[in-house]
Amino acid sequence: METRNKEKYLSCKWLESGVCFDNGVYGSNVKVCCYLSAPGGGNTMIFKDYHGEKINWDEFFKIKREYRDIQKAGGIVSGCQGCIFLEENYWDNDDYVDSVIFDHFTRCNCNCSYCYTDEDKKMYNKLKTYNVYPIVEDMLKRGILKTGGAIGFGGGEPTILPEFEKLISLLLKKGFTNIRVPSSGIKYSKIIEKGISTGQLTVVVSIDSSSRETYKAIKKIDAYNKVTKNIIKYAKAQQFGSYNVTSKYIIIPKVNDTQEELENWLYFNKKNNIELLVLDIENSWLSKYREDKPDEKILDLMRYVETKAKEMEFFRFELCDRAKYLL
Ligand code: SF4
Ligand code: SF4
Repeated sequence: METRNKEKYLSCKWLESGVCFDNGVYGSNVKVCCYLSAPGGGNTMIFKDYHGEKINWDEFFKIKREYRDIQKAGGIVSGCQGCIFLEENYWDNDDYVDSVIFDHFTRCNCNCSYCYTDEDKKMYNKLKTYNVYPIVEDMLKRGILKTGGAIGFGGGEPTILPEFEKLISLLLKKGFTNIRVPSSGIKYSKIIEKGISTGQLTVVVSIDSSSRETYKAIKKIDAYNKVTKNIIKYAKAQQFGSYNVTSKYIIIPKVNDTQEELENWLYFNKKNNIELLVLDIENSWLSKYREDKPDEKILDLMRYVETKAKEMEFFRFELCDRAKYLL
């Protein structure tokens, strides 16, 4: 494996040391990252048409170095044009991976109305996937996968992947500390609980409601009680003073946009020691809003929730980029 000295140039951590195992209706590929919102379109490929085969790591790093060389020469890889994650920095130029997104599955046990899978749930629940565990094991054996970056999931629901428990268990054992698992919260996972208890893993559950009826209207499944019970149990596994459970609320205008619903969501989180909050706005509504005139009611509601969360002294309250854009 080649080791080169640090150099200063424009790049990003994914171009340098990231990988995304991706799968969807447009194909199953190994890519540099999962970010598609760059003006250049993202989608920077490493291997096309990949379905879990053994990886030739020399070939993998040869391709990664070609992208790196474009950046070092002052150019920009075409998919990365205009990306907000590009930064001038000293990059160490070694051949390794420290950031991974597992986005090789689309099956989910929930049915959120705002999810991309909503267009054809049956098809997305049946889409063929593969097992990433042997790949991760191989990377660790070869010293290719290192700690220090970010491990994340796309999907789909990660906890229903057959290899999920074994994969997370291995990563926890190997000392990975920045593992982020978005989950519907419907299935309780002992390995998530373990990762929370050691402070190595954060689970993110988008509850989007504070009542059984609203939850059901959005998720098309009667699982509010189960999800809140599970998220409370996860929160109880947190170390004292450490926060590893994120509660998310995506505002869907005319569905869950009352002050009462959002206030109750804040109270629920505070009461149960869930101190990491994220507020977002439904993407399809925002796309429409871009052309229409501003809906002051939604903007006021978002400002109100932000202020209220500050008053209630949550450890962290974040607005997603879409919500920030609106305000
Ligand atoms: S610059 Fe943006 S699009 Fe390119 S690899 Fe980094 S995150 Fe992905
Ligand atoms: S939990 Fe996530 S993957 Fe599942 S339907 Fe909802 S948004 Fe989609």
